[in-house]
Amino acid sequence: MTAAADLVLRDGEVHALGDETYDALAVRDGRVVQLANDYDAGFLVGTGTEVIDLDGRVVLPGFVDAHTHMETVGQYGVHADLRGASGPEEVTERLQARAAETGDEWVLGYGYDESAWDADDLHRSDLDAVSDDRPVAAIREDMHTATVNGVVLAEYGDELPDSDVLGDGRLVEDAVEVVYAATEPDPGETEELLRAAQREANERGVTCVHDMVRQSHAPRAFRELDLAGDLTVRVRLNYWRDHLDALIETGLRTNHGSGMVEVGGVKTYTDGSLGGHTAKLPEPYADAPDETGKWVVDPEELREFVARADDAGLQVTAHAIGDEAIDAVLDAYEECADAGASRHRVEHAELASDDAIERMADLGVVASMQPNFLKWAGGEGLYEDRLGTERREASNRFPAYREAGVPLAFGSDCMPLDPLLGVHYAVNAPAESQSLSVTEALRAYTAGGAYAGFREDEQGTIEKGALADLVVLEESPWERPESIRDIDVAATIVDGEVVYRAD
Ligand SMILES: [Zn+2]
Repeated sequence: MTAAADLVLRDGEVHALGDETYDALAVRDGRVVQLANDYDAGFLVGTGTEVIDLDGRVVLPGFVDAHTHMETVGQYGVHADLRGASGPEEVTERLQARAAETGDEWVLGYGYDESAWDADDLHRSDLDAVSDDRPVAAIREDMHTATVNGVVLAEYGDELPDSDVLGDGRLVEDAVEVVYAATEPDPGETEELLRAAQREANERGVTCVHDMVRQSHAPRAFRELDLAGDLTVRVRLNYWRDHLDALIETGLRTNHGSGMVEVGGVKTYTDGSLGGHTAKLPEPYADAPDETGKWVVDPEELREFVARADDAGLQVTAHAIGDEAIDAVLDAYEECADAGASRHRVEHAELASDDAIERMADLGVVASMQPNFLKWAGGEGLYEDRLGTERREASNRFPAYREAGVPLAFGSDCMPLDPLLGVHYAVNAPAESQSLSVTEALRAYTAGGAYAGFREDEQGTIEKGALADLVVLEESPWERPESIRDIDVAATIVDGEVVYRAD
């Protein structure tokens, strides 16, 4: 007799994202063991089986966020969440509430965006109203700008570089770094951030993240959570390039680890960002005729780095946004013995030329892209300013990657962490050249990430023997493609365990 299932989901619409849909599925020991139509009472249900009646809800493979920063995600859950605050007053109120609840010296808030306010900006006086004896800082959504109170200015004034102090408590770039250095989380605080982040991820239907980590206690904290049995999201760690020597020395290689925490690749920058006019373009920016971007890591250094990592058996994840940077990454990958077998990746890859897309397909290089970035790619957005209409519409051409056969993995870069929002943008893209079908977009957010993480035989799919990593949606994205962003996650299952359930 076949052993009973641990968990049965019945009376739903189970989409394997292939041709078939099913009514029901059964899970045992963290794996899918049965898929069925016309659910019948004998379906592997025993006395110990938990049965969830889906009531027609939709089941998909759990989302794989192929590019995120979990510590950043956690900051919204631990500190004051300033996202969506309507103005300085609401920022002050949220920080006051945080000040009342925390015994920490610092009072921190993250994610305000003054571009939607009537008020011009956040000022020192707004934060002085939070506390006059504790340091208070509000960090803007882009993480490159902050406003602080008088206590911070008095204690850290000497360290703040004059050129990055705008006055009235407002700081940018290196001055913000001083705040980061002073508030850097210790291992215990890092664990608290990661617990908040995994909760957020599970609430969004995410079952696996490819986390980009740099000078952080996160790798250790993730492993401790795993050992304690407290990890509710699978984590693939992509280490920063500074760690290459240590990775080689300690023998950590791509795909080494447990089922829950494993070594991904090693990450490097090449160029900067479109927002900062630092993504590398062959032609000048539309709104800055003298600027064509800049190398954060130049092509020669990049080639050496890629060769070393590839030799050591490490997958490379290279940030490249502008066409020139993408070409430089592909030049470096072309020199590897077998870039496709190593599944080297281009992160963002926003402005790849037709030629570059062909080369990525030929080399077997993964495009790791963020469909939520299309929020800046509309007719009145940032990309129109920076690039003009033609290049804006030539950014993020997901269909071209698919047609060429480039493995496409979607992620959020935590702006914000929300796969359904990303799927929404890919389906409702500003231009035809950027638009995918619902099924294609969902595949890039499930099977695509699984492939980038070498797990396509058991992740990002629903079939017998696959990991029981699943998301249950309240409504069908195929039935309301124009408002996928508003669909709620009803439940998230990781390794056969229900890790999130609405209500
Ligand atoms: Zn990132």
